[in-house]
Amino acid sequence: MPRTDAVLADPRLVAAAERLGRPLVKTVVVQAQERARAGAITPAQVAESALEGLRALGPLRRVINATGVLLHTNLGRAPLSAGAIRAAAIAAGHTDVEFDLHTGARGRRGRGAMAALAAAVPAAEAVHVVNNNAAALVLAATALAAGREIIISRGELVEIGDGFRIPDLLVSTGARLREVGTTNRTHLPDYADAIGEDTGFVLKVHPSNFRVEGFTGEVGVGELATLGVPVVVDIGSGLLEREPLLPGEPAAADVLRAGADLVTASGDKLLGGPQAGLLLGRRDLVERLRRHPLARALRVDKLTLAALEATLRDPVPPVAAALHADPALLAKRAEAIAAALRRAGVEATAVPSLATVGGGGAPGVTLPSAAVSLPAALAAPLRTGEPAVAGRIEDGRLLLDLRAVAPEEDTELIRAVAG
Ligand SMILES: *Cc1c(COP(=O)(O)O)cnc(C)c1O
Repeated sequence: MPRTDAVLADPRLVAAAERLGRPLVKTVVVQAQERARAGAITPAQVAESALEGLRALGPLRRVINATGVLLHTNLGRAPLSAGAIRAAAIAAGHTDVEFDLHTGARGRRGRGAMAALAAAVPAAEAVHVVNNNAAALVLAATALAAGREIIISRGELVEIGDGFRIPDLLVSTGARLREVGTTNRTHLPDYADAIGEDTGFVLKVHPSNFRVEGFTGEVGVGELATLGVPVVVDIGSGLLEREPLLPGEPAAADVLRAGADLVTASGDKLLGGPQAGLLLGRRDLVERLRRHPLARALRVDKLTLAALEATLRDPVPPVAAALHADPALLAKRAEAIAAALRRAGVEATAVPSLATVGGGGAPGVTLPSAAVSLPAALAAPLRTGEPAVAGRIEDGRLLLDLRAVAPEEDTELIRAVAG
């Protein structure tokens, strides 16, 4: 049995100890020695086994997203821009998040982020930011409809993912749902007939992760705005301005101009920023939400505020760059990577591919892309490598789709595959 000190001197474990601390690494080595004593592994495999255990233990790991899904919920949705990462790193120390450096007095928390958001959506009288879009909906439902009714179309009772459903979320606040219309068609009179003394607001939820086709009909925001009750619109993806490539995705500015009183959206979908819930709209409503006691429980962290502000001021976050990537350039990159891999003895070819936006929006929309096609057996070692690489299996091949991979990552991708 190799001695603990000898195993700990393995350069890979020395590096791990620098990252994770020696006590943790030592514990894992001792566990590996026990597995060797029990005969589950050979003594020669102790260091390797400890490293494997540590990979599962450490903090979140970097993943190169070669799935072709731009906003992959399981991979943390939007990657932050370099500017947002720098801003978050600065804010990680002491920072003026709630302090006015000119006067030395308390300042409005995250005023820079709020100003950037307000400037990005002039159609909004006021803005506020909470933990995520689900929190924005909970805050709106609590502050505007607890003990009262939220009117919503049966075609918009959406499950967001991991078993969480917007209707359940709304009901958990003490609001009652008044469902109107049918799964495929809802008309203005359906809403009008449901309005009464108990109405808190009408809610319109964008179907970001599914499509209903055929004999369908929904009521636009402009028509809902004629009903005389507040109209809250959950646009989902966080597009502030219309995106020509994604004609089906509503933009906050359009929805507000159409007459919405309050818009909710995610910060880490098509906006390309950190996880956050954006609230935009009428000043009196936003103020009611901001001053509600629950707002404090949904408050965003200084890191989020810093990253959000930088995202809003940065013209092209990585999600936008991926969305607008030129398919011809993607194909060139795929050819170059495949050629480099073949030189290293890997069976690789460049192939055309189709990418998608993902759970964050634009269901049914495909984006022409390019991929490196590899033997499927490489999928597991690439996932567990450093950095981890996540691709997708298609027709028995592992495809590394380049649309969500930054060009700066190509060299690392080659190294990860070629070893
Ligand atoms: C994604 C999404 C949500 C949930 O947003 P989070 O920021 O993940 O809480 C809610 N509504 C719609 C329409 C969505 O697309």
